[in-house]
Amino acid sequence: VKYILVTGGVISGVGKGIISSSLGVLLKNNGYKVSAIKIDPYLNIDAGTFSPYEHGEVFVLDDGGEVDLDLGNYERFLDIRLTRDNNITTGKMFKHVMERERRGDYCGKTVQMIPHLTDAIVDWVERVAQIPVDGTNEQPDVCIIELGGTIGDIEGMTYLSAFERFQRPTLKNHLMNVHVSLILHPNATGEPKTKPMQNSVRHLRAAGLVPDLLICRSTEQLDPHLREKIARFGMMDLEQVVGVHDVSNIYKVPLLLQQQGVLEAIKHRLKRVEIHHETLD
Ligand code: ADP
Repeated sequence: VKYILVTGGVISGVGKGIISSSLGVLLKNNGYKVSAIKIDPYLNIDAGTFSPYEHGEVFVLDDGGEVDLDLGNYERFLDIRLTRDNNITTGKMFKHVMERERRGDYCGKTVQMIPHLTDAIVDWVERVAQIPVDGTNEQPDVCIIELGGTIGDIEGMTYLSAFERFQRPTLKNHLMNVHVSLILHPNATGEPKTKPMQNSVRHLRAAGLVPDLLICRSTEQLDPHLREKIARFGMMDLEQVVGVHDVSNIYKVPLLLQQQGVLEAIKHRLKRVEIHHETLD
């Protein structure tokens, strides 16, 4: 299984969930089996105890798991059925590590955020990513991992450390990094501003993660000059910078991504993605 990690910059609600689902649609429509994991870096064990006034409704999975609404998006966009383990929360991960600690699984070692919690996160992701989700008994080819919250949040740090492992040379082709960030259009200046986006990219790099695709959310279509500027400051190739403006219907987002060569970028970045036991390039 290969992984696509989706992170968000500048504000929450930037559109990570829709982008994650849309990346899945692109892959699915091209014959890949896709699964998805949502990471919510809060201390609740699951969304079951949330006030609906604060978070909207919880989404209930077939196995009774009470989870984030994004899992509903994945199920609808990708026609899959997920399990409660497809929603990771920090509370759930802490509980898992604490239970192992009490059982003596760590053999007297000092249990630390790094490497014990980060290893537990990666092990969990690797286990869950292999679960068949489309009604066949076949393992997914690609698992999309959406990291909730915004880059720079203290809650998300552990996860960035965990995924830093994939920067190792032998694992480099197993994880693609997609960063969704926001271009601001303040009324008073009359021109788009990219500084907050620049900062979120810098933050991501400081955490050891190099963005492979930078998805620029904005109210307006991405202007070619602005795109060049963003590529320059982000130290990226022009093809790595993709614009997704506000659309009237979110089901148009996969098309926007396809028009900008995102499928090719994924295939190129993840090298040989296994598909139904053959190998495609
Ligand atoms: P996040 O996962 O980053 O919190 P979501 O994907 O849940 O963000 O999106 C937040 C809101 O913005 C949702 O209501 C979603 O439908 C809407 N949205 C996301 N992308 C777009 C887009 N390209 N055009 C219009 N609305 C969008």
